[in-house]
Amino acid sequence: MQVPLLDLRAQYAGLRDEIRRAMDAVCDEQRFVLGPTVERFEARMAAYCGVRHALGVSSGTDALLVALMALGVGPGDGVVTTPYSFFATLGCIVRLGAVPLLADIDPGTYNIDPRSAAALLADPPARFRGVTPRVLLPAHLFGQAADMDPLRALAREHGLRVVEDACQAVGAEYPGGGRAGAMGDAGCLSFFPSKNLGGFGDGGMVLTNDAGLYERMRRLRNHGMEPKYRHELVGGNFRLDALQAAVLDVKLSRLDEWHAGRRRRAARYDAALAGTAIGAPEARYRDSGLANFHTYNQYVVRASGRDARRRRLERAGIGCEVYYPVPLHLQPCFARLGYRAGDFPHSERAAAETLALPVYAELTDAMQDCVVDHLTASGD
Ligand SMILES: *Cc1c(COP(=O)(O)O)cnc(C)c1O
Repeated sequence: MQVPLLDLRAQYAGLRDEIRRAMDAVCDEQRFVLGPTVERFEARMAAYCGVRHALGVSSGTDALLVALMALGVGPGDGVVTTPYSFFATLGCIVRLGAVPLLADIDPGTYNIDPRSAAALLADPPARFRGVTPRVLLPAHLFGQAADMDPLRALAREHGLRVVEDACQAVGAEYPGGGRAGAMGDAGCLSFFPSKNLGGFGDGGMVLTNDAGLYERMRRLRNHGMEPKYRHELVGGNFRLDALQAAVLDVKLSRLDEWHAGRRRRAARYDAALAGTAIGAPEARYRDSGLANFHTYNQYVVRASGRDARRRRLERAGIGCEVYYPVPLHLQPCFARLGYRAGDFPHSERAAAETLALPVYAELTDAMQDCVVDHLTASGD
């Protein structure tokens, strides 16, 4: 049985007419970059996420870049985050000439461990003594919020601004604290097609409650221009297309339904994997009473013999993926930062042992049973 890791065609089948009407409206209007369709989507996203301002941008990567640029992050500054994330989290820091100050993850959630971040800030490696920590950048991995209460307390204690990488966690809730991306100074979302809210191409968004920061980010999005042909800041082209906003606006109406569908599939995996050698992912806020305690952008298991199991699934036509096989501190392009294998044991173990399985609302029981059978079978 073929089981794709993600089946966007099944999702599209249920939305085809609505999406085509929304795209047609943009075609009739011929306003393709920013404009009223983008503004309408921004307002709906701000309401959904519970923030005052939402800024549509060209990708999740550019959302991170714009947020860090608007906070003035540059050479000599340090940004505290983990090496277990998508490349963009670190790439944006380094592109601005700043230094990623890395802490290890919590092995249960794969998110930054507040105790590891506290230890890092109390006693940074000697080679980073000249670096001033400016920003704390937790990534909410796989659809579950990082532990923001102790992280925000740590940021207050050290005078750090907080930028959330919520690219995998749109809509995820944190007990007493609101949604992913709405809990720091700025929160970054990605609308890459494989995220829970995915467009027909690249797109992203920055969320904030800070009017001054919003204004700086809004200018940076369009080459720092305000008013026309006057540039007090050097920005870039970080604009969102109206066609993407039109598609995303239709999909936003279904987002909570899709989150619920992913959670139902995750619960079914949890039950099937209980008592096996495969470790199901931890949903730390399951008993919080929040609907979106986890949004399962990925359902990530831990298994011994991960690579053999992965090959077995692939041979059987089952999509699966390793997020991420090489932790970022061991990537060749970051070698000059001086990190070594062994620096972040939880991140390195996660890179060696985890495997993401298909998890989406359109998955059937039979497809899921097939995944579980091949995953738990012994032998190579
Ligand atoms: C997807 C993702 C990004 C980047 O988003 P793009 O829209 O692909 O640029 C950044 N960080 C994390 C954690 C992501 O998963």
